[in-house]
Amino acid sequence: MTYPPTQSDTDRQALLNDAIDWAVAHGLLIRPPVEKVSDSFENGSLVTHAPFTLYPTPFPRAEFEKAKGLQQPWNTLIHKLSVDDALITEVMKELSGVDDFMQKLYEIYLKTKEEGVMQRASLGIHRCDYLLHAEIGADTKSARIQQVEFNTIASSFGSLSTYTSQLHRYLLQASERYAAGVINIDQLPENRSVQAIAGGIASAWKLYGNPHARVMMVVQPGERNVFDQRWIEYNLLESHGIRLLRRTLEEIEDRGELNPKTKALTIDGHEIAVTYFRSGYAPTDYPSSKEWDARLKVERSLSIKCPTVAYQIVGAKKIQQLLSVPGRLERYVDVYTADLLRESFTGLYPFDNSAEGQHAYKLALEDPERFVMKPQREGGGNNIYGSDIVDTLKKLTVEERSAYILMELIRSPPLENLMVREGKLIEGEVASELGIYGIYLNDGDKAIVNEIGGHLLRTKAHSTKEGGVAAGFAVIDSPLLV
Ligand code: ADP
Ligand code: MG
Ligand code: MG
Repeated sequence: MTYPPTQSDTDRQALLNDAIDWAVAHGLLIRPPVEKVSDSFENGSLVTHAPFTLYPTPFPRAEFEKAKGLQQPWNTLIHKLSVDDALITEVMKELSGVDDFMQKLYEIYLKTKEEGVMQRASLGIHRCDYLLHAEIGADTKSARIQQVEFNTIASSFGSLSTYTSQLHRYLLQASERYAAGVINIDQLPENRSVQAIAGGIASAWKLYGNPHARVMMVVQPGERNVFDQRWIEYNLLESHGIRLLRRTLEEIEDRGELNPKTKALTIDGHEIAVTYFRSGYAPTDYPSSKEWDARLKVERSLSIKCPTVAYQIVGAKKIQQLLSVPGRLERYVDVYTADLLRESFTGLYPFDNSAEGQHAYKLALEDPERFVMKPQREGGGNNIYGSDIVDTLKKLTVEERSAYILMELIRSPPLENLMVREGKLIEGEVASELGIYGIYLNDGDKAIVNEIGGHLLRTKAHSTKEGGVAAGFAVIDSPLLV
């Protein structure tokens, strides 16, 4: 059977209109780029639907369940990594001289450690991302998940993924022209990521223990993905009675204050129980020392951080690579769990001066099409592929090279789908990346929350190497379990 189902042009047009209207009516929205906004719309009043697929994309049910099953072990593991001072020291020894951004984070880590950490609790809202891998020519059903990365800061699209899952359910239920006889409703898994994320923040807020305190979301000035964030705010207020403030790092530096004794963080007269970062993950979030000062202020404070600087540091690709070294995982988890986690690893190599690093260097030069070269960056658009790997390697010194890792390319079997961006249909071969959210709260002694927090499917043209919705490569999707 062909998938997605074939339709007349008239039917397809009608479905496209139904989908766009549903998206707009239900807040599946983003702000358009500034250059597309005309002056007649003031105060951010012009919006567009978030890019989405018209159909859910087939994903093997067993692999979907497997990815979910890995999330709680990952939540625990990330926490254990974050409290392993020797690990952070080891990694930063390698990165300090070659990665200014990581070095700045490390300085905050060291400073707060030296002063004495005021808040022992930490909140993790993570997302582990996977691609399907299959031998060339094999079909989707025989494909297996391989981990792309794990994210420990500003893992986004929880809300919009919840609404995209609902959009596909709506289309299926509203019209038999959509996919009658092709899709069964129980192939569309429920997705409550926005409730899970808000629930995690609410648990941290309760742990803080001041009923008058608020949550602060640290946001980028001019953020376009604002509705994904707003839904978390609305959920916190409506389901938990908790108020949330949005503040930029600059505003926090200008107006945030620490109580000299308790280190309680207040801004504009409100005490902050939880600081939730949706900014601060990229060098561009820190255009001056002011933003770094703000980050230090928050880290020093009594507020519960999501994430702490330590969580952010252990989210580095370098740590992901280290975990693939035989025996490393066993330092944190039992052998059974280690094997389970490792099953989804693809080849990861250091680019340092070690024998393995030299080996990786040779491999990359010999067969660059087999790999992706990654710096310690987040947010999409930073990786190096194919012949660019060779060009880059030739320019770097041995020391500079260690700022990167080398990773085997995961090869997804191509599927067909229709992507919708700014109202336009884009038809073609696609590949999807599955993300599983993890919600984890630790009070400093023990885990209080350790949950699977729903999922995200992002789909891009198969020929595009880079992913990322905000970066403009991918659209939001939902899995059709097969
Ligand atoms: P970021 O933290 O910037 O999101 P990622 O490691 O997720 O960095 O890489 C960005 C994108 O590059 C992914 O969404 C995926 O599309 C692609 N990518 C990354 N690693 C691989 C890989 N090993 N194989 C295939 N594609 C990859
Ligand atoms: Mg990332
Ligand atoms: Mg990513």
